[in-house]
Amino acid sequence: MPVQIEQLRIVQYPNPVLRVKAQPITEVTDEVRRVALRMLEMMHEAPGVGLAAPQVGLSWQIFVANPTREPEDDQVFINPVLTRPARETVPQDEGCLSLPGVNAPIYRPRSITIEATDLDGAKFTMTSGDLAARVWQHEYDHLEGILIIDRMAEIDRIANKRTLKDLEQAYKQK
Ligand code: ZN
Repeated sequence: MPVQIEQLRIVQYPNPVLRVKAQPITEVTDEVRRVALRMLEMMHEAPGVGLAAPQVGLSWQIFVANPTREPEDDQVFINPVLTRPARETVPQDEGCLSLPGVNAPIYRPRSITIEATDLDGAKFTMTSGDLAARVWQHEYDHLEGILIIDRMAEIDRIANKRTLKDLEQAYKQK
C-alpha cells in the first residue's frame, strides 16, 4: 500500500511500532525518496537532530540525521550498518522525539563507522567521533526496536517514571 506522505506523524512511546524490528529497503524508489525527504522536514520542524522511519510509523530501515542543523548537513541512511565501535564508551544526555520530556545520560562508544545507501542507491561509508556518532547509534537503535529507556541507568528510569506514565496514559486515551 502506498504511503500517504502528508499523513505521516511522529509517533510516541508506547506505540508498538517503535518496538518492531525494521525491514530492509530492497530498492530506493521514488516513494522511499519522498518519505526520506518528508522525514528530514519533520526532523527539522520538531526540531531534532535525527529521525528514524519507525518514529513515523514505518518499519523501514531508514533514518535521517543532521547533527549540526545546517541545511547542507542533511543526511539519509538507508539499510545502515554500524561497524568498528570504539572500545571506550562515553555518557551524554539524550532525548528522543518519541519520548518527549524524557532525558538521561546514555553510554555509547565514542566513535563509530556507518555504512549505508543514499537516495541515489549508492553505498557510502562515514566515520565520526563526535555528535554524529551518537545520533547514528541512537537512530540505528530505533531500527532495532530499541529506545533510550532500555539503555538508561535504573536511577534515570525512576527519575523519568512519571513522564513515562503520562505518555502511556495519553496513548491509551487516543
Ligand atoms: Zn529517538
